[in-house]
Amino acid sequence: MASRRTCSLCGKREAVYFRPYSGESLCRLCFIRSIERKVRRTISKYAMFNPDDRIALALSGGKDSLSLLHLLHKIEKNFPKAELYAITVNEGIEGYRDEAVEHAAEACRRLNVKHVVVSFRELFGYTLDEIVKASRRLENAPAPCTYCGVLRRRALNLAAGKLEATKIATAHNLDDEVQTFILNLLHGDVYKLGRLDPEAPEAEGFIPRVKPFREIPEAETAFYAYLTGVRFQSKACPYAGTALRGEVRWLLNRLEARHPGIKFTLYHSFEKLKPLVRSGVKAEIYRCERCGEPSSKPLCEVCSLLSELEKAR
Ligand code: SF4
Ligand SMILES: [Zn+2]
Ligand SMILES: [Zn+2]
Repeated sequence: MASRRTCSLCGKREAVYFRPYSGESLCRLCFIRSIERKVRRTISKYAMFNPDDRIALALSGGKDSLSLLHLLHKIEKNFPKAELYAITVNEGIEGYRDEAVEHAAEACRRLNVKHVVVSFRELFGYTLDEIVKASRRLENAPAPCTYCGVLRRRALNLAAGKLEATKIATAHNLDDEVQTFILNLLHGDVYKLGRLDPEAPEAEGFIPRVKPFREIPEAETAFYAYLTGVRFQSKACPYAGTALRGEVRWLLNRLEARHPGIKFTLYHSFEKLKPLVRSGVKAEIYRCERCGEPSSKPLCEVCSLLSELEKAR
């Protein structure tokens, strides 16, 4: 962040933010406008929305999703036929999730956005804390974030289906996208790269997902939240440190500090790889033999994780 510098865009006001990758120093107003402009550009570049979409926003109560709520609510005013809903998934993480749910509910009340809260317990029979406890009896137990990610994805799809949503919007930012790119490479899961693509044709039964923040660095979504007065959960999830993602995040932040812009370079490399990856993948879609939900395998990931857990219990 810079101090006592003049904004390089308007040349009038004092700069409050320095962007190392572009060399720009921005005042409060120009920073907010630049984020909103970039998000609108990303939305139109990937044709993310139709004017009459019913959009279900995944609202965790963290800075990114609350900032996206704020922004989509602003954009939606220009599209009278579009509708915006928010879905919060309560995973059941003691001492962590309740505060986030309150921030989410408060923001929706203020903006008059319909808010739905669903929980792992009501949908799958267990809280995430209970799942993590039971999983300790498994050999090679999956990480808490694996359970959380797979079940949250299903919870969102089910809740959005009930709302008859035509799009699910998530607040994944540039950092999340680049981390996932690297993680898929580290796991040898090259074909999963195709799933990161917002333009990828959706399989039957899945509601298309869009990520309007995918070209905004995390530091900027955080600063946008701060400048626009969004109140958000600042406490970290107690399971966050257990994932490989944390190490990749640390590494990428270190690289970015020494080589500003390297995250964008990785992102654009992925963009170039996309058509090649997609042309080599023929995704087969099944109906899960246990729950009937669409899946890339005969037994979906949710049922496969939960059945292993049941055996352990
Ligand atoms: S850090 Fe992992 S366990 Fe915690 S909310 Fe995120 S995905 Fe879930
Ligand atoms: Zn300015
Ligand atoms: Zn299933």
